[in-house]
Amino acid sequence: MKIDLHNHTVLCNHAEGSVDAYVEKAIEAGINVFGFSDHAPMHFDPEYRMSFAQTEEYREMVMKAKARYAGRIDVLFGYEVDYLPGYMDDRILNADVDYLIGSVHFIDQWGFDNPEFIGRYEHEDIDRIWREYFQLVEAMAQSRHFDIVGHLDLIKVFKFMPNAPVGAIAEGALRAIKEADMAIELNVAGYRKPVGEAYPSRELLERAYELGIPITFGSDAHKPEQVGLYRDEVEAFARSVGYTRCATYSRRDRELVTF
Ligand code: ZN
Ligand code: FE
Ligand code: FE
Ligand code: ZN
Repeated sequence: MKIDLHNHTVLCNHAEGSVDAYVEKAIEAGINVFGFSDHAPMHFDPEYRMSFAQTEEYREMVMKAKARYAGRIDVLFGYEVDYLPGYMDDRILNADVDYLIGSVHFIDQWGFDNPEFIGRYEHEDIDRIWREYFQLVEAMAQSRHFDIVGHLDLIKVFKFMPNAPVGAIAEGALRAIKEADMAIELNVAGYRKPVGEAYPSRELLERAYELGIPITFGSDAHKPEQVGLYRDEVEAFARSVGYTRCATYSRRDRELVTF
């Protein structure tokens, strides 16, 4: 089975293409389960996400596609939710979804993965921001709100690497993820970014495997052409670490299937 649970829609204002175009691309790529997980609304950084008023429209778009393509591909409905204390909303956290991806995109309200704000790295202690990032991932797991950790080591996006060993920095977060029984995703967006590799790195994926943390897969597509890209590479990567099964969800119930 080919599972792809991280994909966006035009509602987030920084993606393009119709829902149908994404689903058709997924069918072409041989994907069996295709999930939309668009950026959930919040009262912070509103220009990069749908509004609360658009959540019904989002649900309808996805549900229509689910019905239209039934029998050819299984379309799932989820959100990518920012872990940002003070800005998370129960309407999203308790929404009737197949799954929630929890992602850290902000450190102290700094959008560290946005090229617009890349200048701030010059003024930061890289080891310190790596520690802060993984502390936020750890707190996110402890919050128990989410099913999947989005792009586990996103902080590497621009390739500002720490001096301290990454494994030690991320260990607390990985243990919390295991404790919370969450999955991590193999997210291929990193191949399109300066870091030039998947999230997470081999080192962190090997540690996740040792801990028995399940994986799933995500294109993190913001255009239909990005659906299914690097799929063979990332599957081979997961297999080389020892994984043979990946997670899929229905109404927040997880099932592991062979990939
Ligand atoms: Zn996005
Ligand atoms: Fe993200
Ligand atoms: Fe995303
Ligand atoms: Zn993402």
